[in-house]
Amino acid sequence: MGFMGNKTEKAELGRATWRFLHTMMARFPENPTPHDRQSLHDFMMLFSRLYPCGECAVHFNKLLETYPPQTSSRLAASQWLCAMHNKVNERVHKPIYDCSDILSKYPCGCDDGEAEDITTNK
Ligand code: FAD
Repeated sequence: MGFMGNKTEKAELGRATWRFLHTMMARFPENPTPHDRQSLHDFMMLFSRLYPCGECAVHFNKLLETYPPQTSSRLAASQWLCAMHNKVNERVHKPIYDCSDILSKYPCGCDDGEAEDITTNK
């Protein structure tokens, strides 16, 4: 695989992943249950171990050690991820993003209000 192809694919994967992660946070419950909070925490920790770009995963995992996932509310989770994305932006020399109205930036096209806890052990 050529250098450019490699770089393009890494960027595409990054864009798609950030879109998914920000949208997931924008749909996280405003008042999460302890189970919701644990799920988000575990999801992010596993995500950072399994993200397919190895160099990115190592760096992101270190970021999570310093800045653990904020899971107390939709706003807290969205702001936290926005700040983490900005840490990565800094590292890859991309512009810093304004996180102030992050909740309105990632609509999911879903007609229901928020991600639901579909498991029984709430
Ligand atoms: P992206 O950074 O992909 O962002 C997509 C869009 O999201 C932007 O156009 C903007 O509209 C919006 N956005 C930008 N910043 C924010 C923010 N803070 N909050 C909310 N929305 C925002 N690449 C590397 O080369 N090295 C790495 O170590 C690396 N680590 C990564 C770690 C993770 C967890 C992920 C998901 C990706 C990583 N990437 C890394 C990829 C990199 O972050 C970009 O996705 C890629 O370079 C493409 O950049 P882009 O300019 O299209 O914008």
